[in-house]
Amino acid sequence: MLKKYNPFQNMLDVLDDAAKRLDLSENEYITLRHSERELVVSVPVVMDDGRTEVFTGYRVQHNSTRGPCKGGIRFHPEADLDEVKALAAWMTWKCAVVNIPYGGAKGGIKCNPAKMSEAELKRMARRYTAMILPIIGPERDIPAPDVNTDGKVMAWIMDTFSMLKGYAVPGIVTGKPVEIGGSLGRKEATGRGVMLTLLNFLGKIGFKKESMTVAVQGFGNVGSIAAKLLHDEGLKIVAISDSSCALYKKEGINIEAAIAYSERNNRLMAGYKEAGIEVISNEKLLALDVDVLVPAALENQIKEENVATIQARIIIEAANGPITTYADEFLHKKGIVVIPDILANAGGVVVSYFEWVQNAQSFMWDENYINNNLEKVMKKAFEEVWQVHIEQGVSMRIAAYMVALSRVVSAKKLRGIFP
Ligand code: GLU
Repeated sequence: MLKKYNPFQNMLDVLDDAAKRLDLSENEYITLRHSERELVVSVPVVMDDGRTEVFTGYRVQHNSTRGPCKGGIRFHPEADLDEVKALAAWMTWKCAVVNIPYGGAKGGIKCNPAKMSEAELKRMARRYTAMILPIIGPERDIPAPDVNTDGKVMAWIMDTFSMLKGYAVPGIVTGKPVEIGGSLGRKEATGRGVMLTLLNFLGKIGFKKESMTVAVQGFGNVGSIAAKLLHDEGLKIVAISDSSCALYKKEGINIEAAIAYSERNNRLMAGYKEAGIEVISNEKLLALDVDVLVPAALENQIKEENVATIQARIIIEAANGPITTYADEFLHKKGIVVIPDILANAGGVVVSYFEWVQNAQSFMWDENYINNNLEKVMKKAFEEVWQVHIEQGVSMRIAAYMVALSRVVSAKKLRGIFP
C-alpha cells in the first residue's frame, strides 16, 4: 500500500541521510529535526456576500541559528501544517546552501484564491498579518511571495504591519513592488536562478545547451520566467503546463506569446492557440522524452505512482519538494540527474536578501549589479555542492544538504543551546 505523503517526513529522511554521511551524532543536529516555533491562527474574513468565513493560517519558523527566519507565504487549498513545516525547513537549508545570513520560515493560508475576490483576498492577507504580527519583523522573520501570492499581497502585508507599528517598515517583507522598496530583479530572480543553475550544470558535464529540449510543469512566476530565460539561452521549450492545461509542440513553443496570453487570461493557459500546438495531460508532460524537465508547480509531483514513466535526462527542481524520497532514489539509481530545489530555486531568496539589505540601507541598487551578484552567489553555491557531489559520490541533493547542514550545525555549535 502507498504510504500517505508527508512532506515533513520527506525532509527528515533526507536530513537524516545527510547527517549520517557527515558523521554527525544525533545530539549535534536533533534540534534541526524540529521547528523552533509553529503558529496556527484563525483568519476570519467578512466575505463580499456578508458571511464570515474563518480560514486557517500558519507561520512556521524552522530555525534562526544563522539569522532571522525567512520564507514565503502561500495561499492554497491544500496548505496544512506538515506542508508549511517542510517548506520552512527547506528554507533553512536553502539559505544555508547559498550562504546568506538567514534561517528558514514559511507561511500559508488554506483557501482557494481562484474563488475569492480581490477585496476578500486583501482582507484575508491583512487579518493574517495581524494574527502573525507578534512573531514577524525585519530582524525576526521576513515573509515573501510563494504559490498564489505576489507583490500586491506583499504590499498589503507591508501596509498592515506598518499601520500597526505607526511608521513605514519596508523591510518586513521582500518581493514587494519596487515603488515601496522592492528590489529590481526580484520578480525574475527565482526563474533566473533556475536558468543559471542549469547552465552551471551543463558547463560541468560539457553539454551544449543549444536546441536541448525542455518541458516545464507550472507556468506561474517561476515556471514562466525560467522558460523565457532558458528559451533566450537557446534551449527549446517543447511543453508547458499550469493548473488549467498542458501543451506540447515539438518545434518549440513561442514562450513570449504564451506568457502574454497567460497574463491576459488571469494567469491561465487554457485556450492558448499556436500553429502545431497540442493539448496533452499533465502526466504525459512529466513523462515526455526531453533533455530537461523543470517541475515548477507544487510538491509531490514525481512519486511512486509515476516515477517509472519519467524519460527526461535531467530534472531541475524549480518548485519546492516536487520529488518524493522514494522517487528520488529511483531516479538516482536510473541515472537521471536531479538538481535539487534548495540549490536550483534559491535565486528568489538570494535577491530577497539583496532587497532586505537595500531596505536596511535605504539605498537602491541597479539591476545589473543585482543580477551580477545573483550570478556570483549561485555559481559559488553550485561549485560547493558539485565538489561534495563528486568527492563523496553522493547525489546532488544529498551534497546540497551536506553543505547546508554543516553550515547550520557549526553555527549552532558556536552559539550553543540556551540557557
Ligand atoms: N517562496 C520563495 C522560496 O520558496 C522565496 C522565499 C523568500 O524570498 O523569502 O524560495
